Amino acid sequence: MALIVQKFGGTSVGNPDRIKNVAKRVADYRKRGDQIVVIVSAMSGVTDNLIKLAKEIMPLPSEREMDMLLATGEQQTIALTAIALHALNVPAVSMTGAQAGIVTDGVHTKAKIHNITPKEVHKKLDEGNVVIVAGFQGETASGQITTLGRGGSDLTAIALAAALKADLCQIYTDVDGVYTADPRLVPNATKLSEISYDEMLELASLGAKVMQSRSVEFAKKFGVVFEVRSSLNENPGTIVKEETKSMEGVVVRGVALDKNQAKVTLVGVPDKPGVAAKIFKALGDATVNVDMIVQNISHGSGVPATDLTFTTDKPDLLKAQKVIEGLKKEIAYKDLIVAEKIGKLSIVGVGMKSHTGVAGKLFETLAQAGVNIDMISTSEIKISVVIDLAKGEGAVKAVHAAFIG
Ligand code: ASP
Ligand code: MG
Repeated sequence: MALIVQKFGGTSVGNPDRIKNVAKRVADYRKRGDQIVVIVSAMSGVTDNLIKLAKEIMPLPSEREMDMLLATGEQQTIALTAIALHALNVPAVSMTGAQAGIVTDGVHTKAKIHNITPKEVHKKLDEGNVVIVAGFQGETASGQITTLGRGGSDLTAIALAAALKADLCQIYTDVDGVYTADPRLVPNATKLSEISYDEMLELASLGAKVMQSRSVEFAKKFGVVFEVRSSLNENPGTIVKEETKSMEGVVVRGVALDKNQAKVTLVGVPDKPGVAAKIFKALGDATVNVDMIVQNISHGSGVPATDLTFTTDKPDLLKAQKVIEGLKKEIAYKDLIVAEKIGKLSIVGVGMKSHTGVAGKLFETLAQAGVNIDMISTSEIKISVVIDLAKGEGAVKAVHAAFIG
């Protein structure tokens, strides 16, 4: 007998028929004699709608009350899923995060899990039930309801799988798994049968939004192997696990395009100690998320000056602009240029560690496609370039063809 954790996201439980489908799948697994713990998200759109309701009353609602409110979304789906299982004559019990023993810190709306004591879960399983646990929520040691940040049901599933020492952890979503590129952009993109945690993390932060990044970090830390697969069909998905020797044979696992970035350039920044510190401290204080940073060598006669460019998430651009304009007097840069029509194209693969010539091949491919490179950044397993947004999709196709086929 195996213990299986299955997580279903918002679209997979988006209406009564979908919930019945989930129940049917769970019932089929249970027939094989396995113990099943199901984690569900709120029905799609519900969390967004609750946030909207609160903001109609007050723009900045109390975070404690937001947690109280948002936790209700998942509480609806656990009960509905239990009812759907009862309708199939399968014994099932729903549990809130707190009832499942998920204890968090007190940072409302983005709490971290401290520990999980799933005594009740085991007890209900041993009595023959399917146990359905609300994703995205927990409680503090003193009994306050908390939530784990947007997309947090993924984290609930991975963390419970670790705490329960589950034999299998499946994350059901509305895509078939992780692809070598967005199949809407690259029709011959293929589904990966396996991917390493690090590659998955890079691809998630690059806009291949399959799972909450925190949950993948957690899985890596605790060695939880999991499968991402579709709740709409029976196709096997993508296994996410620690990298293996054979994974290194593939140089580029995936190509991603992030259209959600903007670029800010400070022209003629005096080249002296402390300037970059001031700029990025001020941006950090304003909670502007900065991604790539490029600084040139100094140029010009007289006082040495340099140009400094960084990228940020598009929604943060106005905030970033305000912060930089506020520093104009203090830093005495010459000009501020912002560009929104950019795309960040990235190639990711653990095989890059042991292969040479990857950057050269990428740049050559882009050159042949007539794509100019604005910025470059690299890590051990990733190369990213900032390019013109209008050329983004063509560039992804060309790069995918060059590296993956
Ligand atoms: N319902 C929450 C959200 O929409 C958590 C989740 O879906 O994972 O962010
Ligand atoms: Mg989700």
